[in-house]
Amino acid sequence: MEKVINKKDLAFFALGGLGEVGKNMYILQYANQIFIIDAGILFPDEHLLGVDYVIQDFEYLIQNQEKIVGLFITHGHEDHIGGIPFLLKKVKIPKIYAAGVAVDLIQNKLIEYKDLPQVQIVEFKSHFTYTFKEIELSFIRLNHSIPDSFAFVFKTPYGTFVHTGDFKIDFTPVGPAAEYEKLAKLGSEGVLCLSADSTNALVPGFTESERKIGNSIKDLFSHIKGRIIVATFASNIYRVQQIIEASILYNRKVVVFGRSMEKTIEIGQQVGYIKSPKGTIIEAEEIPNYKPEEITLLCTGSQGEPLAALSRIASGTHRQIKLIPGDTIIFSSSPIPGNQEGVNKTINLLFKAGADVITHSPLTDTHTSGHASQGELKLLQALLKPKYFLPIHGEYRMQRVHADLAIECGVKKENAFILENGDVFCINERGARMAGRVHSGDVYIDGTLIGDISSSIIKERKVLSEDGLFSLIITIDTENKTIPIEPQVVSRGFIYMKDSEALTKHFVASAKNYLLTELAKVKLVNLNNLKYGLTDYLSKLIYDETDRKPMVLPIFMSINNKLN
Ligand SMILES: [Zn+2]
Ligand SMILES: [Zn+2]
Repeated sequence: MEKVINKKDLAFFALGGLGEVGKNMYILQYANQIFIIDAGILFPDEHLLGVDYVIQDFEYLIQNQEKIVGLFITHGHEDHIGGIPFLLKKVKIPKIYAAGVAVDLIQNKLIEYKDLPQVQIVEFKSHFTYTFKEIELSFIRLNHSIPDSFAFVFKTPYGTFVHTGDFKIDFTPVGPAAEYEKLAKLGSEGVLCLSADSTNALVPGFTESERKIGNSIKDLFSHIKGRIIVATFASNIYRVQQIIEASILYNRKVVVFGRSMEKTIEIGQQVGYIKSPKGTIIEAEEIPNYKPEEITLLCTGSQGEPLAALSRIASGTHRQIKLIPGDTIIFSSSPIPGNQEGVNKTINLLFKAGADVITHSPLTDTHTSGHASQGELKLLQALLKPKYFLPIHGEYRMQRVHADLAIECGVKKENAFILENGDVFCINERGARMAGRVHSGDVYIDGTLIGDISSSIIKERKVLSEDGLFSLIITIDTENKTIPIEPQVVSRGFIYMKDSEALTKHFVASAKNYLLTELAKVKLVNLNNLKYGLTDYLSKLIYDETDRKPMVLPIFMSINNKLN
């Protein structure tokens, strides 16, 4: 294969994260050094049956293992760190560089997986600089829906490459401010190339401040009389802190439900982002000691996840919490595309149980995004003034609109590149070019197996779920070329045999006929060929007569008289 990247090329490409939201992994490569940026997972939609996550295909990294300098983590969201255990299992990673809560989240994650190779986690701070061969890496703190989200600045022989990671600009953040001065300084020195978060590129204006959401939550708390149950994203430590603040303000104790929420609070307290006076957070057993209006329940399940605390409370199956009259549930979240149905189901159950439900709306501002809208994306362009621009982290339409925004802000049309996963963008002394492709793809992870599932398994599960299974157990006498026993039929999810006796009989008779004809044709019986032939024949017949394509599965038992 022709070499895509030359030693003198500054190359950038994605193994995941482009044309999708999830499984982020970007590669910066120069002088035989590979910098891996993030290793995330993607939560699959419902047509990937039984798949827990989708990760990147690591083929390129396996082939170029010796060039890997390290894995550099922008922040601690699952679509950026969730794939780390799988990466470590397949690829030798010398070091992981991460900051703040991301370090704790990664450590927590690695404990859950046994038999992983040891890896050193290097904790960087925003003022640190690391020097590699002809590359200098530094960091810029930005705002996001999890603390400690950083942009990476790679100083290369061709100029400065800035990679934003996930970000928004929040002028009144709950945590530390973004480092605007660093952005402005880089802009004045000159930025060669910018790759930036496209998630909210379709949204006009500015993303609302996290602080404002805290205020509207306090507002809601001021006039709710009974118990308050708040569901939010466990990773949004700032939101959790603001919910705790509102509770303190209105003399409520906080009870926490959901393992990931408990972990968030633990990590948040360690790092100092969650501050709650002693006695604010109480155990579930202590709830009876308080009046309903003195209690806030903080829980997971804002996405309608069936096993999360809120869903179990809604369905009445929670071990400790039963809904009582006067309960109000606040969704401090928005449904992620694909989760709307599950969320609606939970809301219906909550209403049915007599509770009041408040969701995010223009009147009740209970949530804001962690990603920059068009206003902030333009501000970033104005500050950095990059020569080349690469929209990342988003579906194609988001990348497209983001590229147009950059062009509007002064990037030359021919200098904005919309890449797909695997497309390699290269810069050298002669300029920039699309250099070709490296191997990229999807790998499915089945949580119970912690192994890879091939796409053919997914296809089989899809067939089974839609059209069911039609199986025939056939005994064949290979010596005499007969079928001595009537074949047995197993049908699941395809036709109900009692109601379709005639049809079933017809399929069995046709199959027998087919087999006897085929057996008569050959001297030596090859059961495999026979099986393939019968599968094809039956699939066509069933489709012709029923318009459905169940999985057809002949099972042969062979009797050979010679052996007896
Ligand atoms: Zn994120
Ligand atoms: Zn992300």
